[in-house]
Amino acid sequence: MGQYDTFVTDVLVIGAGLAGERAAIESARNGLNVILLSLVPPRRSHSSAAQGGMQAALGNTAMGKGDSPDVHFLDTVKGSDWGCEQDVARLFAETAPIVMREMAHWGVPWSRVTTEPRIYDGKEIHEDPQKVGLIAARNFGGTAKWRTCYTSDGTGHTVLYTMDSMVQKYGITVHDRVEALSLIHDGETCYGAVVRSLRTGELSVYTAKSTVIATGGYGRLYGASTNAVINEGSGMSIAMDTGVVPLGNMEAVQFHPTGIVPSWILITEGARGDGGYLLDKNLYRFMPDYEPNKKELASRDVVSRRMMQHIRAGFGVDSPYGQHLWLDIRHLGAKHINTNLREIATICREFNGIDPVHELIPVRPTQHYSMGGIRTNIHGQAYGLKNLYALGESACWDLHGFNRLGGNSLAETVVAGKIIGEKIAEFTKDVSLNVSTSLVEEHLHLQQGRIDRLRSQKSGKENVYDLRNRMENTLSHNVGIFRTEGPLQEAVDELRELYERSQSIGLRGSGAGADPELGLALRLPGMIKLALSIAKGALVRQESRGSHFREDFPKRDDVNWLKRTLAYWPESAKEPDLKYEPVTITELPPGDRGYGEATATSKSAPTK
Ligand SMILES: Cc1cc2nc3c(=O)[nH]c(=O)nc-3n(C[C@H](O)[C@H](O)[C@H](O)COP(=O)(O)OP(=O)(O)OC[C@H]3O[C@@H](n4cnc5c(N)ncnc54)[C@H](O)[C@@H]3O)c2cc1C
Repeated sequence: MGQYDTFVTDVLVIGAGLAGERAAIESARNGLNVILLSLVPPRRSHSSAAQGGMQAALGNTAMGKGDSPDVHFLDTVKGSDWGCEQDVARLFAETAPIVMREMAHWGVPWSRVTTEPRIYDGKEIHEDPQKVGLIAARNFGGTAKWRTCYTSDGTGHTVLYTMDSMVQKYGITVHDRVEALSLIHDGETCYGAVVRSLRTGELSVYTAKSTVIATGGYGRLYGASTNAVINEGSGMSIAMDTGVVPLGNMEAVQFHPTGIVPSWILITEGARGDGGYLLDKNLYRFMPDYEPNKKELASRDVVSRRMMQHIRAGFGVDSPYGQHLWLDIRHLGAKHINTNLREIATICREFNGIDPVHELIPVRPTQHYSMGGIRTNIHGQAYGLKNLYALGESACWDLHGFNRLGGNSLAETVVAGKIIGEKIAEFTKDVSLNVSTSLVEEHLHLQQGRIDRLRSQKSGKENVYDLRNRMENTLSHNVGIFRTEGPLQEAVDELRELYERSQSIGLRGSGAGADPELGLALRLPGMIKLALSIAKGALVRQESRGSHFREDFPKRDDVNWLKRTLAYWPESAKEPDLKYEPVTITELPPGDRGYGEATATSKSAPTK
């Protein structure tokens, strides 16, 4: 093996979005050396694209009056369709207000309660004069109170920029434009990662007492996703590659009701939270027929299903990009739209050439969020390997179960960052880094060997882009919002075949330096492993829960399925091995969510 750079640190954090940065800050505050890795400059992480806001029970606004962590906890458990860990949900709901206020102190310019009255759903709302100037909150799906704290509709942007300034304040080392390719481990303990430079293509080694995965979601496994192009789930797949770390509930995939057609960029739930409606081809507001209580603001899984059900019933609007529905925010008025919803107004103008102050927005449910991920305990410790942690969207902590509430993910990143960051600091102090050079070189050789084989043009003839397209199409068509046995079985068969073929990729280019084709060729087998875990998990789970809706098993089945899927990929296996574990129920026994009765139909929608 030739020369390669080696970096040694106490804590290696892979991923510099909100989750990674918040955990890194907590470790650094406790006196540990931290290195943060990222594919892109940290402020370009997907967290910065978040629009609508983050939930915390502050109860400052008139419509949030009476809110408390208890109510937030109840909403989260119902939202999850009883799939979440209730001890995690309780810890989260209690800590969120503290973290929100802490971030105000750090400089997040939260939108504040004002004296100005507002018309909402036909009612005039007046704020308590005593509360003017406190952190405001907007309405979001599946919540009993207005609880989502925000800065206009650019919340992720302001919070991530603030967080990144804190990273600099603490002098945390950041290495960006690098990609972790594999974890260094001996089957029992994790010692760091093998990393490829996205500038030179060179490999280097990072060894650490504690390794933290905070690499975000896998949205880009699907053809149509609101996610950034870098969200390919590589942190999850390198954890799965170890053979001993399981992924939890991979079949739980969230579709957001309002991706804009045809670029699939997100139009925030805040648009409906602030009073926007969904209309069909007859400009009829159909959601109150299906969901009389929560209307457009039932939880995301429910609204997405209702929209697709309505399209299937013949009420979709034809377009060259398939059928869609309309989002109408015109009645909110120019002032509100150009302040509180200004990012989405810009997206409408720049990408679709429409002005949402006067025109309707074409929308369709679009892949948005991964509830599944690296399974950890409540302290963020990954199952299967010592000294490995995960948090944020790449993890299955498991706060969200089978459906995450809007505003709970951004909040999770910073709440988990604080809580798990403290645990990492506490546990890392007792670890002495003891890793043999031969183990490090073995892992480095493995990755260098993959690169050399691909570059030698002898590994096969498969076109990496074709395989990727087929994977995307398979997931989009067969493992979407509505699922049934036949198409799911086809997806599993197809993905098994694609996985085999991904072992024989032939590069079209030379693979020299930072070549992106080589990068994708290195990642794709791992991406297909995730895709297969999603499809197989969905095929085997014969019930409907949250975002996982089986048309052939439309009811939730707590007798047989009140459990979490754990997908392992044993060494040299050709598909994941599924195991199950019980869900922790500490306070709220399974019951009715209060919305989204799976089999209800629209009674009063007009005929075609
Ligand atoms: C358009 C959009 C809007 C959203 N709006 C909201 C909202 O309003 N409210 C809400 O609660 N949630 C929202 N979400 C969800 C929420 O933003 C994300 O779940 C959350 O920000 C994820 O944060 P994270 O830190 O886990 O990951 P990310 O922010 O995705 O960061 C991942 C990091 O990992 C790095 N990385 C990835 N792979 C590797 C690798 N192999 N090696 C090295 N580095 C790697 C990346 O460079 C990046 O720094 C939204 C999501 C999207 C897509």
